[in-house]
Amino acid sequence: MRPAIIIPATPTSNGDLHVGHLAGPYLSADIYARYLRATGRPVVYTTCTDDSQSYVITSANRLGLPRQVLVDKSTSEIGHTYEAMGAVLGDVNRGLPPIDDTYRETVQRFVTELRDAGKFEKRTLKMPYATKAEMYLYDGLVSGVCPACYAGSCGGVCEGCGHPNNFDELLDPRSTMDPDDPVEMREVTIYVLPLEQYRERLTAYYAEHAAVWRPHPKQLIDELLAGPLPDYPVTVPGTWGVESPFEDTPGQIVYPWIEAMPASIYSTWWSLGASGDVDTPWLASTDPELIYFHGFDNVCHWGVLDLVLLMAHDGRYALPSANVVNEFYDLDGEKFSTSRGHLVWGADLLADVPRDLVRFYLALTGPEFQRTNFNRSTMDHITTTRLVRPWNELAEAVEKAVADLPAGTVLPTTERGRGRARAVIERVKLCFRLEHLSLGRAAETVLSQVGRLRAAASLLDTVELDGAEDLGDLMLELRTLLACASPFFVDTTAGITADLDAELPHEIAPVRFPALPLIPDRSGGQP
Ligand SMILES: [Zn+2]
Repeated sequence: MRPAIIIPATPTSNGDLHVGHLAGPYLSADIYARYLRATGRPVVYTTCTDDSQSYVITSANRLGLPRQVLVDKSTSEIGHTYEAMGAVLGDVNRGLPPIDDTYRETVQRFVTELRDAGKFEKRTLKMPYATKAEMYLYDGLVSGVCPACYAGSCGGVCEGCGHPNNFDELLDPRSTMDPDDPVEMREVTIYVLPLEQYRERLTAYYAEHAAVWRPHPKQLIDELLAGPLPDYPVTVPGTWGVESPFEDTPGQIVYPWIEAMPASIYSTWWSLGASGDVDTPWLASTDPELIYFHGFDNVCHWGVLDLVLLMAHDGRYALPSANVVNEFYDLDGEKFSTSRGHLVWGADLLADVPRDLVRFYLALTGPEFQRTNFNRSTMDHITTTRLVRPWNELAEAVEKAVADLPAGTVLPTTERGRGRARAVIERVKLCFRLEHLSLGRAAETVLSQVGRLRAAASLLDTVELDGAEDLGDLMLELRTLLACASPFFVDTTAGITADLDAELPHEIAPVRFPALPLIPDRSGGQP
């Protein structure tokens, strides 16, 4: 079977993951990976920290920490949060890949091959320069106004409209770290990647993959294609990041967003056991199915720039099958913000609430197609009333129904029961198809089946069974429900073989239907 490589965008190591990050790419990618595993696919879920980002510089400055100290601390925190939410990196859980010499060599080799093949152009252009700090400003180092939508924006890309603003395009540029530092436009000679040269290949690619793009990111790509495609920096003047391997760019680093593809290639190799050639899992001849999960603000990078970087290698690497793009998850009606402290850390929520409930709720309410909102009380209420209570009533009814069955009982199933189980599996599978992937809808499907089966199970207590067949069918449907719920849960369905492609049996043993944990009462004892 075709191997799948599932990659949530490399998290920046300038802090831990908050609930918005989890509800965005990180948990969704893990749930999707678990779903694929439940259909028998070989899957590697991998990512690594993005240590080179300018946001590490600005966060370290804000927190008064040395940059590498912040990176090490954040990497450890992100790793723990991953573990706490139950995301398995690699075929066995190998944790986050280290950003080491092999990583840096992979990045440098990736760009050197393209430079040597004449894919980059050397340009002298203007970039904002902070005169007091004596440094060029790019990405998070510079704040100003987006030239496409006029919202406040950092350099590189606008979080709101998703449009790029490279070099001197950001309006009213100020130094993020010192807004009083006078900024001037200063000439610099760097390498760029001219995306316009890939217009034909990009257009063909997007046409072929039109069905798997969600409407909002698709709109952005159409907007970008409607104008001249931008040049992208390949190197920028700076010292924080992977040193540029080109002899004619002294004092420059590889532009951090260029690292994403070699970083992903390296992570995949590392997560698969770090043996053999680093490139092998990503080669076109290996034919992996690449699926990225990232936020809307990364469409320009992960959806366009990185695609061109793979294309520029002229057929060496596989191209992605899908970019699963999420919108922002708000907290109490406002955007999560680390700098303003308006956030809930993933680790704190996972320490407070059993992770299966966190995973299910974030999937149910995640910002798949538009911004959605997180509120802790709402989470407690909805999780309790819609998931835990009906699920556990079902578990109780099932326990009663099977309690008196003699050991070794095998129950028959009917074609009607198998038909219902098959239909539910097909409903869930539809939700996981890349063309209309929706974890929220899959979670809703699970909830509606819990309600239906709870009603069916409660009848077992009050009416005489028509026969063992009713119970057999119920057992089959319970087993189906557990399989369909298994991508969301880590603990509740642990040890249950979830094979969504298995032949439905004509005979079945009584099913153990585990109860869900409760959300701890936060009201000080009031029910
Ligand atoms: Zn904008």
